[in-house]
Amino acid sequence: MSTAAKPNLIGLNPVKLTALLESMGEKPYRARQIMRWVHRRGVLDFSAMTDIGKTFRERLARETVIAPPQLASRHDADDGCVKWIIGTASGSAVEMVYIPEGGRGTLCVSSQAGCILDCSFCATGKQGFDSNLTSAEIVGQVWHARRELGSFEGGDGPPVTNVVFMGMGEPLLNFDNVMDAVDLMLSDYAYGLSKRRVTISTAGVLPGLERMRGRTDVSLAVSLHAPNDELRSELVPLNKKYPIAELLEATGKYMKDLGESREPLIEYTLIRGVNDHRQHARELSVLLQDFSCKVNLIPFNEFSEVSYRRPSASSIGNFRKILQDAGLIVTVRTTRADGVAAACGQLTGAVRDQTRRRERFLRRGESDASNGGLIHSEKSDTRSAAGPRGTAR
Ligand code: SAH
Repeated sequence: MSTAAKPNLIGLNPVKLTALLESMGEKPYRARQIMRWVHRRGVLDFSAMTDIGKTFRERLARETVIAPPQLASRHDADDGCVKWIIGTASGSAVEMVYIPEGGRGTLCVSSQAGCILDCSFCATGKQGFDSNLTSAEIVGQVWHARRELGSFEGGDGPPVTNVVFMGMGEPLLNFDNVMDAVDLMLSDYAYGLSKRRVTISTAGVLPGLERMRGRTDVSLAVSLHAPNDELRSELVPLNKKYPIAELLEATGKYMKDLGESREPLIEYTLIRGVNDHRQHARELSVLLQDFSCKVNLIPFNEFSEVSYRRPSASSIGNFRKILQDAGLIVTVRTTRADGVAAACGQLTGAVRDQTRRRERFLRRGESDASNGGLIHSEKSDTRSAAGPRGTAR
């Protein structure tokens, strides 16, 4: 058996790991033992797994691997945030960020190397798209963070209490791998996170939202960014396929199925002169007046390739006040880890672009984002990626 063909145990969710071990003639509790070693204690070496008989340990070592992705580099910001770069099997690099806050520690993970959606204001999209991350590469980000922070069982490092899929990529276009990784994040034998503290953030992939129902009960964030379809289609081209009304309806359905008092987070990146007028705030208030949710305003994080700018603090404050006066619950995301380019939408890694979008983007030269010139029609990309398996390779 070649190494490439050996199953990688770190990315197998509880059901798949149990099935594999059963196929090797073992009882289900073996899966729990292995998950505890790998995900709770950070142990990768079979020979250290002392509650498993020697003969079976040796067989596991011959026939399987436990291989987290490769950790390429670490960047510590002054405010305690840490950004790591992870090498993927496909030859790209993706980023993840740890954000400590009080007793909480939020890990922002990537789900794809690059992104096909090409939202006009997102640096990741400008890199083009390489590949879906495997479940091992997704959950491996949590594994690496815990190891780097010294917070595996017995360690006294800062904990990872929350995971948000707000790094590179569109999680719902890599549905199966993301869900397998989420299973491990939630499993008591692995990371044991609360379903409320794992958040999938989506630009609005409706088939993915549909599939989430019945498959998972984690928290949901929706990237809205505009109060009407015309403007949203400029910022988030996917909106042409899945417009706002349908997106909100699908979001409401998912939340309703959870059957508890849980609300989605509506993300709204504020861009100066583009979607930050008082009129936009009023329109948003009307749009969301009967929609149970929390609104998170994200002041635009600037990057060199587009000319968009962040609004002033006072216009962010005005926007917020209009929403609050209309009865909405609103938070403003503070920018952290600025010094290491790890804020929302600044995660670029190094994507081996398979779409040649980056090349075309650079060739187009003038990056005047305000005229919508960046929002070229890549309908074919969008269509193929919104297919059932979500892979655009
Ligand atoms: N594909 C997912 C995850 C994207 S990143 C999604 O669309 O939700 C998480 C959030 O950061 C999204 O709401 C995204 O729109 C926002 N974002 C992207 N670029 C940004 C930028 N330059 N400044 C501020 N927020 C940005």
